[in-house]
Amino acid sequence: MSTSCVHAVPLDKTPRVRTTAQLPIHLADGREAAGVMYSFHGLSDGKEHFVLRLGAGEAEAPLVRLHSECTTGDVLGSARCDCGPQLQESLTRLHEEGGYLLYMRQEGRGIGLYAKLDAYRLQEQGHDTYAANRALGHGDDERDYTAAAEMLKALGLTRITLITNNPDKRAQLEALGIEVAGVRPTGVFSGRHNLRYLEAKVRHTRHTLVLPGATEEA
Ligand SMILES: [Zn+2]
Repeated sequence: MSTSCVHAVPLDKTPRVRTTAQLPIHLADGREAAGVMYSFHGLSDGKEHFVLRLGAGEAEAPLVRLHSECTTGDVLGSARCDCGPQLQESLTRLHEEGGYLLYMRQEGRGIGLYAKLDAYRLQEQGHDTYAANRALGHGDDERDYTAAAEMLKALGLTRITLITNNPDKRAQLEALGIEVAGVRPTGVFSGRHNLRYLEAKVRHTRHTLVLPGATEEA
């Protein structure tokens, strides 16, 4: 006779919401927005991705922004990329129109923070962002949106309007069973520190950005 304790472990591994909690946030313009943050059980890559829902109303194909973690840009306001302003713009639009921010924990297009810093060092020696990643043995873009599709399905969102300039995000989500009913472009936040980075994005990944007076610096 077995005396071991048998826990009731659910056999169903379908990703599902773990916790929701209120998260009031300050927008870039100083307004306060009422957010609700979601965590999840069972995401296939085991990372702590999360969703922040903002605004009121339930659109038939709600706005969704997939944002990949960028500690330097999101937290520190780095001028080497456009992640910080992109995140702030998304939060403001989602607050005004209602929708969901999916915050994907895939720093540095999936290579991690330390490797991203290594790549920054190579860029200071003349590589562009993609050449630097390749020199470190990484792909141009290692981001995978499987967990994003899992979170959307766990929230019952299978038809969305995507905020993006990146055609790969739409293609990956559609391949994962999410219907992208429409795409809204994001703003372009160029400056003297990130222009080369944005130009490389356009060249390498067909990002739909129109850059002001784009020049190829030495
Ligand atoms: Zn960034």
